[in-house]
Amino acid sequence: MSETLQTRCCIAGGGPAGMMAGYLLARMGADVVVLEKHKDFLRDFRGDTIHPSTLELMYELGILDEFLKRPHQEAKELAGQVGNEKFVLADLSHLPTHCKFVAFMPQWDFLNFIAEQAKQYPGFHLMMQSEVIDLITENGSTVGVTAKTPNGPLQIRAALTIGADGRHSAVRERAGLQARNLGAPMDVLWMRISRQAQDPARPLGRVEAGKMLVMIDREQYWQCAFLIAKGTLNELKQRGLEDFRQQLASLAPFLRERVEELKSWDDISILTVAVDRLLHWSKPGLLCIGDSAHAMSPVGGVGINLAIQDAVATANILGRKLLAGRVSDNDLIAVQHRREFPTKATQQLQVLIQNRVIRRILDARNSGPMKVPVFVKLFQRFPVLRRIPARLIGMGFRPEHVKTPSISPSFAQRAR
Ligand SMILES: Cc1cc2nc3c(=O)[nH]c(=O)nc-3n(C[C@H](O)[C@H](O)[C@H](O)COP(=O)(O)OP(=O)(O)OC[C@H]3O[C@@H](n4cnc5c(N)ncnc54)[C@H](O)[C@@H]3O)c2cc1C
Repeated sequence: MSETLQTRCCIAGGGPAGMMAGYLLARMGADVVVLEKHKDFLRDFRGDTIHPSTLELMYELGILDEFLKRPHQEAKELAGQVGNEKFVLADLSHLPTHCKFVAFMPQWDFLNFIAEQAKQYPGFHLMMQSEVIDLITENGSTVGVTAKTPNGPLQIRAALTIGADGRHSAVRERAGLQARNLGAPMDVLWMRISRQAQDPARPLGRVEAGKMLVMIDREQYWQCAFLIAKGTLNELKQRGLEDFRQQLASLAPFLRERVEELKSWDDISILTVAVDRLLHWSKPGLLCIGDSAHAMSPVGGVGINLAIQDAVATANILGRKLLAGRVSDNDLIAVQHRREFPTKATQQLQVLIQNRVIRRILDARNSGPMKVPVFVKLFQRFPVLRRIPARLIGMGFRPEHVKTPSISPSFAQRAR
């Protein structure tokens, strides 16, 4: 026999989409259960970028100052390097937002921060180590989920179920929602290499023929993402770890002594890249948001931002109706209508860059040195052009604003 819980909204997945949706709904007084299958947020595969539009949402929520007290790095420019030639790709200093920078913060710190904010509201319940296994369906509507928890099986019944369980969403699979796969020519190898004080400060993308490395500064160490053509991991492994270390060192010579820290292939994780989106994001009683509705490529590092924007739109469109106990099928469809354009536009750009830039770089393995693309040269010649990628990366298409009210946490505590 499994225990049964009743709530207003049950959210599968405690990533950026699920945590932000849970926070916003609890903030307006709804009872929400967020189920996260891991025991903590400490996982390395997560991106680290908090974009100006997300920081603006935090400003609107009144939590920005508190957030910026947490350790983070700020990047006002996004820079790259092809061979020995360095260039600036995006200049964020002109954005119409309070923060004119991308904040780099390990995602577990960001999620812990959102969890702390959300827990001030008595309706917010975060259940870690609780994995959604299936949906409960009655008369053609989703009315909750079944989950595996440390205390045994659990049923959670809810007026609304939200799938925010990421790229490998169990919810979308159990609901039978069909996705359109847009494909990705690459996968990513993810690893840490220690950082030294004299290392270059700017987050850098480094490119040579056949190789591409992105390095995120986490103060004590570099979080490195090395792009490989999809399906070529075995080939890489056959050439041996020393060959891989040398490839890294040739892209970032200041790491030459430190690539030895990679002692075995176990120190390197593979992250499969998927780009897809659901044809229908909802079914009666159920809505998918974030990567669960549309898996994002790492290109531009915008997936977290999109996931959060989905969460804000969900709360804006559904929050009051959920509180009143009336979320119709059309209300759920309205969330897709609101968020489909920014998703499609972003994915189209990502696929364009994947195919026109990344695929060419990775395919150029046996050719000579890479040249800086003409459009990048234009950015150096006319710095004003750097504002275009800054706008696309920093704010994205159709940025959302918080339109949901907040109950006072202390009032809510007393009312319980
Ligand atoms: C290699 C790589 C690098 C990336 N780098 C960046 C970056 O730097 N910046 C950026 O903005 N985006 C980046 N992205 C994209 C970004 O990670 C995603 O778009 C974003 O995390 C989506 O957020 P989400 O909340 O929808 O899903 P996720 O972040 O995937 O969160 C889903 C959560 O659900 C949990 N979960 C899964 N299944 C279940 C279940 N059955 N029951 C309960 N819980 C479950 C998971 O443990 C996870 O915590 C990257 C993607 C890849 C592949």
